[in-house]
Amino acid sequence: MVFGALRTNREKAEARAKTALERKYGGNAARLDAYNTAPDDERSIEYLERAAMDRYGVLRAIDDARSGGKKDEELKRAIASAEEEYNMRRTTGGTFDAEGAARDATSHFLLRLASCRSEEHRRWFRENELELFKYRYGELSLDAKMEFMRTNGFNDYARASEKEVRERRDDLRDVLMADHEYRQMRRSLSKDGKLGTMEYQRMCEEAASEASSWFVVGFEEVCPLVKSRRAYLIGGNAWIRKETLDQLVFGRFKTMLNKMVAEAITLFKKFEEKEAHRLTPLLKSVHNRRSGSGYDFQGEDGTMSIAGIEATQESFPLCMRQLYKALKEKHHLTHGGRRQLQLYLKGIGLPLDQALVFWKTEFTKSPDCSAEKFEKDYAYGIRHAYGKEGKRVNYTPHACGQCIAADPGVKDAHGCPFKTLTSGVKDNGARLHELLGTLKISGAKSHAIVEKATNMHYQIACGMTFAAIHDGVEIEAGVHTPHQYFHESRKILAPPTTSEAVLGDANAQSVAA
Ligand code: SF4
Repeated sequence: MVFGALRTNREKAEARAKTALERKYGGNAARLDAYNTAPDDERSIEYLERAAMDRYGVLRAIDDARSGGKKDEELKRAIASAEEEYNMRRTTGGTFDAEGAARDATSHFLLRLASCRSEEHRRWFRENELELFKYRYGELSLDAKMEFMRTNGFNDYARASEKEVRERRDDLRDVLMADHEYRQMRRSLSKDGKLGTMEYQRMCEEAASEASSWFVVGFEEVCPLVKSRRAYLIGGNAWIRKETLDQLVFGRFKTMLNKMVAEAITLFKKFEEKEAHRLTPLLKSVHNRRSGSGYDFQGEDGTMSIAGIEATQESFPLCMRQLYKALKEKHHLTHGGRRQLQLYLKGIGLPLDQALVFWKTEFTKSPDCSAEKFEKDYAYGIRHAYGKEGKRVNYTPHACGQCIAADPGVKDAHGCPFKTLTSGVKDNGARLHELLGTLKISGAKSHAIVEKATNMHYQIACGMTFAAIHDGVEIEAGVHTPHQYFHESRKILAPPTTSEAVLGDANAQSVAA
C-alpha cells in the first residue's frame, strides 16, 4: 500500500517533469531552436559533461565531413549519422522528444561558452553550428519553417496571399522568365539537362500561379538579393521564391549566432570564478580533450584491454618494457614512472575503467598497499591523467623528448633507457647490450645501437632497435613518442584484421578472467 502510494507519487512527479519539459522546449523550438534563451534546468555535472562532449562530437563530425569535401546529400548523411551516434536529436521516430530537445539546447549553450575564448574556436563553432542548423531546417515542412520563423522573430518574411499572387501573376511570370539562375535550376532538374523555351515558359506560368512559392519581404532585408536578381521588386514590394527564403533564414541565423557567440565572452567572464570548481574546468577543457601536440594519434578509447597489454608486449618500446617489468616485479612505481606508463597505456587505447582495475590489481599485490590505500593515494592520479580530475585536461602521452629530459633517481624506472643506461654510466654500454640481448639483438647490430646511444642519439638508437626486431622495417618519420612506436609496430606485427583478432582474444581472456 505504502509502496503503491510512493510509486504513484513518483509517477506523478515524473509526469509533471515531462509536461514541464514539453511546455518549455515543445513550443517555439519544437523541432528547431534558434537558441535565444539559455536552459535553466537543474542538471548534474555528469549530465552537463556528457552533453558538452556529445555536442563536440557532432560538430567535429560535421567539421571532418566538410574538410573531407562532403557536400549536399553526403554531408546530410554525415550529419544524420553524427546526430544518431551522439544521441543529439530533437525528435525520435518523427515525434518530438522533449528530453532530446532539452539536451540539444543545453549542449549548444555549453559549447558556445566553451568556444568563445579564442577566435579559432569561435569560428569553428559558428561554421559547424550553422551547418547543423541548415540541415535541420532543411528537414522541416514549409509549415514548420513558417512556425519557426514566426516564433523566432523572423516575422518580416510573410507568405504571399493567393489574392496577391493572382493579381501579380503576369509580373511574376515575366521576372521568372528573365531569371537566368532560375532557368538553370529548372534545367538541372530535367532528365536530359535540356529545357526548351516553350517548356520553360509553361513552368514559369505554373510557378507564378502557386501561392505557396512566394514570399513578400522587407526591402532592406533583400538589397543584395535584388542586385543578384534573386528578389523581384514588384509594386513597391520585394518578392522572393521559397528557395531563396531559405538563404535569407540562414543569413539571419548566422548573424544571430555571431552576436550570441560574441556575447558569450562577457557571460563566461561573469561566472568563471563563481563556477571555478564545477563548470569552468569542464568548459575550458572541451577543446583540449581531443587535440594534443606533436604525434597526436591516441588509441581509440576501448581498443586495449588489460589482457591486451600483456599480449602486445612485443610492440612496447624499451622505455615501456622497462616500466612494465618494474611494475610487475615491485608492484609499485614512483610518481614519474606511474605518470609515464599511465599516459602511454591511455595512448595505446586503455580506457579509464580498465586502467583503474589494472593499476589497482598490480599495486595491491604489494603487502604495503591495501585497496583503501590505493583508492586514497593513487586512483586520483589515474583519473587525473584521463582528464577527470583537477583542471580536466586531456593529457597526451609523454613524447620521447620528455622521457629523455627526465632525471630518474636510483629507485625510479622511468625516462629513456637509451639515455639512462649510457649517460654517465662507465660500463662501455654493457647494461644496454644486455637489455638489447633480451630482444635477441646482438653482435654488430647491438654495437651500432649502443654507439648511437653513447653519442646521445637516443631516438635514432631506438629507431634502429625497432628496425632490428621488425625484420629491417624502419619507422620512416623517426621515433617521436613511445605510443607512436607501439602503433607502428602493430601495423607490422598485427595488421588490422590480425590485430583485432589478437585484441579480441585478449578481451575474451580478460572477460573470462
Ligand atoms: Fe622510449 Fe622514445 Fe626512448 Fe624509444 S626513444 S625508448 S620510445 S623514450
